[in-house]
Amino acid sequence: MKNVKAYGAKSAESKLDNLIIKRHEPDSGDVEIEILYCGVCHSDIHTVRNEWGGSTVYPVVPGHEIVGKVTRIGNKVSKFKVGETVGVGCFVDSCGNCDNCKNGYEQYCLEGVTATYNSLTRDGKEITKGGYSTHIVVREDFVLHVSDKLPLHAVAPLLCAGITTYSPLRHWGVKKGHKLAVVGLGGLGHMAVKLGASMGAEVTMLSRSPEKQKDADDLGAHHFELTSNPENMKKMAGSFDFIIDTVSAKHDYNDYLQLLKTNGVMIVLGVPPEPSNVHAFNLIFGRKSIAGSLVGGIAETQEMLDYCAKHNIVSDVEVIDIDYINDAYERTIKGDVHYRFVIDMASLKK
Ligand SMILES: [Zn+2]
Ligand SMILES: [Zn+2]
Repeated sequence: MKNVKAYGAKSAESKLDNLIIKRHEPDSGDVEIEILYCGVCHSDIHTVRNEWGGSTVYPVVPGHEIVGKVTRIGNKVSKFKVGETVGVGCFVDSCGNCDNCKNGYEQYCLEGVTATYNSLTRDGKEITKGGYSTHIVVREDFVLHVSDKLPLHAVAPLLCAGITTYSPLRHWGVKKGHKLAVVGLGGLGHMAVKLGASMGAEVTMLSRSPEKQKDADDLGAHHFELTSNPENMKKMAGSFDFIIDTVSAKHDYNDYLQLLKTNGVMIVLGVPPEPSNVHAFNLIFGRKSIAGSLVGGIAETQEMLDYCAKHNIVSDVEVIDIDYINDAYERTIKGDVHYRFVIDMASLKK
């Protein structure tokens, strides 16, 4: 066991502050990573504030968009070397035996995936602690290779926001000739625009806020359309092959299903606080589908990182010191960030 510096919360009401946590010595198959950067995901805030079904165990140390360097390896580690640049995403273990694990869908492990933070380890002994810390120890099968070609601070959000949008785009085979709409321009939405455009799709940003048009253009969206204008919504009926919906505020899915072409698919990535009523007619007329998607498996996450290195795709980020994290949370909730905060973990070592 080794004591390491971390930043976390002791209760749902308390601010994040300095903590000392224990990391176990790397076992034979483990990689110890010195964390350089960690992205700030909205899930971090929901977990810290215990907003997801009262499941948070305190003290909680969030963070699942981790980029760092390998500092030690176990004697059976074969895929990584000390000094190599690596990443860790939203989960750090799974059963390895179920159909989903065997097919590379570890995120849907039928026994429950072990999340990077606030999850019981598979030996039942500890609660996982995430990337707002100086070091983490992870089984090599859940560690990813990261190219040094890209700016590492801007790579960190690829480990959650990047794979969350990449996986459905790949699963549904989005490519040149497809019309893709992206709803919501935040951490997920901005990656959906970049990745969708890079795959050749004609991308339309759908937004309620006219002031987002310039940002959408800068990210590579081909069109920008206002959803607040009913006439505009009517005009777009039957336009899109795919809609990626990243919004987690309350909204009516039926409004967007109308915008799909025949056989179109609306992919939901955001989790609104209340269930949504979908009228069956909106699916039946035009054989439309509504689907969801959760991050991506390990092999697919590696594929996404390699794809982003090849196509020079990173997240747009604002790098912060760890002591700004509580302010960063307030700004993330307001949507006041372009488009992801990333913590420079050197600020925690000071
Ligand atoms: Zn996340
Ligand atoms: Zn499994």
